[in-house]
Amino acid sequence: MVNRLVFWDIDGTLMHCGSDGRKALNRTFYELYGIMDAFRMADVGSSMDFMLISGIMATFGIDQKDLSSIIKHYHEVLIEILEENNTKQVLPGVVSVLDAIDKHPHSINALLTSNLRIGAEAKLNSVGLYSYFNLGGFGDDPGEKWDAANRCISYAEKQYNTFFPREQIYLIGDSTYDIYSAQKMGIRSISVATGWVDHETLVSCNPDYFFPDLSNTNQVLEALNI
Ligand SMILES: [Mg+2]
Repeated sequence: MVNRLVFWDIDGTLMHCGSDGRKALNRTFYELYGIMDAFRMADVGSSMDFMLISGIMATFGIDQKDLSSIIKHYHEVLIEILEENNTKQVLPGVVSVLDAIDKHPHSINALLTSNLRIGAEAKLNSVGLYSYFNLGGFGDDPGEKWDAANRCISYAEKQYNTFFPREQIYLIGDSTYDIYSAQKMGIRSISVATGWVDHETLVSCNPDYFFPDLSNTNQVLEALNI
């Protein structure tokens, strides 16, 4: 029976694609409204993409009814930018850990990301990782990462007709926000320094586990109790 859930952050944890998400967002607002550098100009400081896009729209007085066309344009631009990016990469050890979780009879992989669902799909498809994920929490709704995670847990419990004890839910992520989100939910945090935050800062947030990267498969699987 499935009773273990492993959440993965995307950017800086599963993969790197530079700042393609931000570039796509800026190009979208430029192409649709002639706004330069919307991301920086709006300075909305939110981490979830829906909140970010809403914040930019509010800053520039863009009507809410434009939201779906903005998202559609963003999706197309993002796919194009990802295609042109020759330096995007899957991070060390990720595939071995994903495979082991996938093969394990009690465990499932899930996404937990501030990306919109379509953004997550575009990014992961661009490096061949999307097929590992059947479910996830995304940045499509108002709220924070833990809100998206809680919605995903409820959905997964129905889908698999099971209960995930909090100590058997993990969040693998590269940011202090990922550690904080896990702590707030009472789930296990696995921090990895393959993103933009240095080793010392991550460790100072007291994650349950810390790895410089995920290349030591056995150690990571041990942390996941697999
Ligand atoms: Mg990240």
